[in-house]
Amino acid sequence: MLYAHRPGLLRYPRPTPLDALIKCHVDAGQVVYDESMDLGPGDLRGYCDVYVRPVVIRIDCNLRGTPDFSPTLAHELGHFALHRETDIPNDYTQVREPRRDLVTGHKILGTSHEWVEWQANRFAQALLLPRKPLKVMLMASTEMAFGVGQDNLHLNPDAPSHRECFGVIRIMAGRYAVTEQLMRYRLQDLGLLQDHRDESKAHVSQILGPRGRPILTCSVPRRQRKSTRRRATAHSTRRHRHKSLAQAL
Ligand SMILES: [Zn+2]
Repeated sequence: MLYAHRPGLLRYPRPTPLDALIKCHVDAGQVVYDESMDLGPGDLRGYCDVYVRPVVIRIDCNLRGTPDFSPTLAHELGHFALHRETDIPNDYTQVREPRRDLVTGHKILGTSHEWVEWQANRFAQALLLPRKPLKVMLMASTEMAFGVGQDNLHLNPDAPSHRECFGVIRIMAGRYAVTEQLMRYRLQDLGLLQDHRDESKAHVSQILGPRGRPILTCSVPRRQRKSTRRRATAHSTRRHRHKSLAQAL
C-alpha cells in the first residue's frame, strides 16, 4: 500500500502519512471516511465495513491527536486492504476470552475473529513502521546514543542497559510519532530487539540432559508464527469492531 502510494516512503524513516493515504482512497471512490461521530463510551475506537461499496471507515471523533489515533486508523486500513474481497466465516462474530500459551505467554488464535483482528494488527504495524527504513533509523539512533551504529538492540537486566536501550526506543518512537510500546513490539517482532531480562522464560521448555546439556528445545513460537501466516489467508470479515492496537497486542 505504501509503495503504491509513494515509493519514497520506504527509503527514509518518517511517519506514515495516514491522512494522505486515506484521502487517496477517498478520492478514488473506494472509501468513505468519517471521524465526526462519537462511537460511545466503550472500547470501540473505529470500525470498517468492508461489505459495502465504497468501504466505510469510521474513527471515533475523540481519537484525533491521541496516541491511539494512528494505530486505529492503520488497523482499519488493514481491514480495507486485506478483507474487502473475502467471504465471512460463520464464526466471525464468536468472541471469547483470550487464551494464552502457558509456556510462551503468546495469545492463542482460534476463532475467525481473532485471526482477522491479528491480520489487521500486523498490517497496521507494518504500515506505521516499515521494516527497511526502521533498520536505517535503528542504525542512526544507536550511533547517536552509543557513538557506534548497531543493527540490533540487546536489552539486558542491568540498569544501564535498560536505560540505554529505552533511550534509543524513545528516540525512534518520537521520530515515527508512535508510542514507545508499539516501537518496542515492532522491533522485537522484526528480531531487531533481543530482550534478555527474563531468560528463564526462553528456556523453560528445555529439558536438560546429562552434564546439563539441553536435549530438547521447544520451538513453539517460531512454528506458531509460520502456521499463523499460512492460515491467515483463509479468514475474512464483515465488520470489525476492536480495541486499539496497543490494547490488542
Ligand atoms: Zn479490527
